[in-house]
Amino acid sequence: MLGTASQAPTRQRNHNGYLLRWDDEVILFDPGEGSQRQMLHTGVTATDLTRICVTHFHGDHCLGLPGMIQRLSLDRVPHPVAVHFPAGGADYFARLRHASSFYETAELAVEPIDTDGQRITLGIGTLEARRLRHPVETYGYRLVEPDGCRMLPERLAAYGIVGPAVGRLLRDGHLDLDGRRVSRDEVSVTRPGQRFAFVMDTGLCDGVYALAEHADLLVIESTFLESEAALAAEVGHLTAGQAARVAAESGVRTLVLTHFSQRYADPRRFHDEAREHFTGDLVIAEDLQTVQMPPRRVPSPG
Ligand SMILES: [Zn+2]
Repeated sequence: MLGTASQAPTRQRNHNGYLLRWDDEVILFDPGEGSQRQMLHTGVTATDLTRICVTHFHGDHCLGLPGMIQRLSLDRVPHPVAVHFPAGGADYFARLRHASSFYETAELAVEPIDTDGQRITLGIGTLEARRLRHPVETYGYRLVEPDGCRMLPERLAAYGIVGPAVGRLLRDGHLDLDGRRVSRDEVSVTRPGQRFAFVMDTGLCDGVYALAEHADLLVIESTFLESEAALAAEVGHLTAGQAARVAAESGVRTLVLTHFSQRYADPRRFHDEAREHFTGDLVIAEDLQTVQMPPRRVPSPG
């Protein structure tokens, strides 16, 4: 959590900015002003970044781009860094990218999002963008790891399957053994893929639910409390209560609320309101806090 304020920073909260580390991907979401310096406190360097995802071009979600992009060149980052943002904001991106003079060495792989449900294949799974409801074109993102398969050693042993035969069984889905066919399902369990979702700046809409569905970790804006529900709907934002109900209905495991309006002095109020609806792990984000992906769900037979 690089920053957790909405609109204007406070003494305790920087503008937005979120880093996701997942195997060989290090994704920076919505870098607001000050993200570069906040990142310094996390031990993640510009060279670690593989990807930048921007939900929309309101300033608190993107005014950190010029500094971050120039930093990639300053540090001579040797690999291309992918950048995703709503295609309708391409002019804003072009200006932010070249907001001031710098010696450009780093390579950006620019892949704008122009379709609801657009998918990008990564080594760790699929990055999917869904349209959200906000006064400007906005997309949320989720990262979905494919389901895997975990072999059960005791079952393999019972069938006497050893060595290269295990690899053949895994690859072909079955193995012929002394006139009997053993299927992969008989000797393995499904290892559920993990899911991360990032939902910023939106009123309640189908896209919110599509992104949150079965997320192990959901980072979602809760700018307002229910007492300001009418205002939230008018300006395209969520309340803590709404975000928590989405999480509960979508089977979310760890819920992270962020993007708080500076009108509320006590963050406990977000916790208390969300707790009325959501019983899972609940985090009211603080700047520079690290939140772990929860351990994998228990594998199911077959
Ligand atoms: Zn916004």
